[in-house]
Amino acid sequence: MRTGVLVRAPEGEFVIDAGPELRLQLVRERASLIRAAVMTHAHADHIMGIDDLRIFGFRLHAAVPIHCEDNVEKQIRETFAYAFTDPATHSHQYAAPKLSFSRIAPEQPFQLLGLQVLPIRLRHGSLDILGFRIGNTAFCTDVSTIPAQSRELLQGLDTLVLSVLRREPHPTHLHLDAALKIIRQLQPRQTFLTHMSHELDYDELCRTLPPEIRPAWDGLRIPLTTGIRSERRNTACQGQQ
Ligand SMILES: [Zn+2]
Ligand SMILES: [Zn+2]
Repeated sequence: MRTGVLVRAPEGEFVIDAGPELRLQLVRERASLIRAAVMTHAHADHIMGIDDLRIFGFRLHAAVPIHCEDNVEKQIRETFAYAFTDPATHSHQYAAPKLSFSRIAPEQPFQLLGLQVLPIRLRHGSLDILGFRIGNTAFCTDVSTIPAQSRELLQGLDTLVLSVLRREPHPTHLHLDAALKIIRQLQPRQTFLTHMSHELDYDELCRTLPPEIRPAWDGLRIPLTTGIRSERRNTACQGQQ
């Protein structure tokens, strides 16, 4: 399925991105009540599940806050225009998600449901997008380059989730060698590769990558850590160990 994260925070659940399979993913993970969404950027594979936040607005009796940059809000308002028209003027007033927007910016940490979330500027081709660090875990998808200033914010990680599209270079995504170079520089304790295309083979990656770098899988769970790093850990592939 497409890349995304469900965060189980001390005061409730939120998602990072809302891809086309969001509903299936939330059912699979037995999510109960999504209280907010945090967006990396507004490409279709990261926002097309936003309509499935509708049920949570009903259950919260409030709009579901979407934390994003202004260009992302603009794209979401255009893509889901029916959610932002006056309900009195159309005949499906209960068929639209209730959404609100909260502005976030790189290097300006914000509190969300009992966690501090740090937005980090990433480049996705010519597009400025965001990655997020929570404690010693960072989620950086759709990356082509990480600015030097942002690399400083990605030091001392227990877990890095980093996107890799394929083995061949690509104009808007990291390819495998470029990702491995970044991982060597940042030295996270463990790394999970995400946003992989069909050109990457899961078993082959498991065989050929160092044990602290693994391809991620649907349903992967990562404990959030905020403490001091311990030694590197060998991370088994799914089905092993
Ligand atoms: Zn993208
Ligand atoms: Zn994407």
